[in-house]
Amino acid sequence: MAEYEPVVGMECHAELLTASKMFCGCKNEFGGEPNTRCCPVCLGMPGSLPVMNKTAVEHVMRTALALNCRINSDAKFDRKNYFYPDLPKGYQISEYDFPIGVNGWLDIEVNGSTKRIHIRRVHLEEDTGKLFHVLGDESYVDLNRSGVPLMEIVTEFPPDIHSSEEAKAYLVKLRSILTFIGVCDGKMEEGSLRCEPNVSIRPIGSDTFGTKTEIKNLNSFRAVQRGIDYECVRQATVLERGERIAQETRGWNDAKQQTFSQRSKEVEQEYRYFPEPDLVPLEISDEWIERIRAAMPELPDARRARFETEYSLPVYDAAQLTESRALSDYFETAAKLCGDPKAAANWIMGDLARLLNAGGEEIAECSVSPEHLAEMIQLMTDGTISGKIAKVLIEEMYVTGAPPAQIVEAKGWRTIRDDGALATILEKVFADNPVIVADILERGLVKKRGFLVGQVMQATQGKADPKDINRLIDEKLTNQADPH
Ligand SMILES: [Zn+2]
Repeated sequence: MAEYEPVVGMECHAELLTASKMFCGCKNEFGGEPNTRCCPVCLGMPGSLPVMNKTAVEHVMRTALALNCRINSDAKFDRKNYFYPDLPKGYQISEYDFPIGVNGWLDIEVNGSTKRIHIRRVHLEEDTGKLFHVLGDESYVDLNRSGVPLMEIVTEFPPDIHSSEEAKAYLVKLRSILTFIGVCDGKMEEGSLRCEPNVSIRPIGSDTFGTKTEIKNLNSFRAVQRGIDYECVRQATVLERGERIAQETRGWNDAKQQTFSQRSKEVEQEYRYFPEPDLVPLEISDEWIERIRAAMPELPDARRARFETEYSLPVYDAAQLTESRALSDYFETAAKLCGDPKAAANWIMGDLARLLNAGGEEIAECSVSPEHLAEMIQLMTDGTISGKIAKVLIEEMYVTGAPPAQIVEAKGWRTIRDDGALATILEKVFADNPVIVADILERGLVKKRGFLVGQVMQATQGKADPKDINRLIDEKLTNQADPH
């Protein structure tokens, strides 16, 4: 088989975080009873007139600036005409030749090196409704989503992305930026961030482009990466058979981990774009741009660099903890309160991430508040609880949401500070394990000490300080070796 190189372009749609829809006053929210947030404007009734949502325009300007784009001062809206049952007007208001943002870039890190991914355009449009196909031959339409402000971000051609890892890194970075600047909640599973990569392959070294396919319905980072990998292998197999790749849209079946043919794109659809006559051009002034720029929050790259210097975090930790605004805010609150940033990072990226993953939750929904996590770390630092107990405690905190000190008291999890109580336990462990004790004292097998420590730890249910146990075991061994 010839060696092929993937060529990947990314089209991402982000639903914008606004109170109302793009051109009417209907609420912009996810879910709810079908067709309860609709009005003549978002239903496309004759005679209804769109009114532009300024917050949505500013969210796109914010995104354009964060992605290093130039902002078109004469951006405008156009009608994209096509017929589909989820689009009641028969056209979508979008931006065609003068989008708000053009010629930007973002940097990704893959395998330890930085790569710049160029961005062709960032534009604003409205979302369509949603179709539900039920068993049999019936379909229903929910127009709550119709008219929700939607931003499209398209990478530059020729594409910079040449592997599924790079595509995933691009999406992770883009999602992080969008959540940091507060324009999108980034929830791929709810469809508020949607990604449609177009994928082609070519022999390594070639500078021509193969026929591309577009993959839809990818609702996780993993699905994006797997979908691209699957498509590359499938296309290579087709080419090796001497056949040609069909230009088409393909869906992603997550259960089968396969793409499947949805519809042919052999005939380029003619959208008959023309300027939207019901809206005036945007006319974005320099002063408006500067006002948005001046109010921009700290971006992920800047925060990552600050985490490395201010909290002495390793590069890896700083990158992980800045994947979303919520996560980095969580870390920063906990780190400041407990005074041990590395410990906070370890707990967040370790036990807490595992619990959230298992519960299918995001950090923003986590029942363990950053204040409680900090308190738990302090209980460890001041010796109130052992590291072993902390591992159990965090699970209990996750389930109950209760403050750690309260759980520790209720469960009797304080570290045993009473040497007398520990000595009694030690006495029993020594008596139960005469062979081990003899091995240590008479045959010099000092490594077997660890077994005794473990036995004491087990007898105290993890509530002893290993330092205390070690000290007391040493004392006892010395006494037995030399009873006089
Ligand atoms: Zn409406």
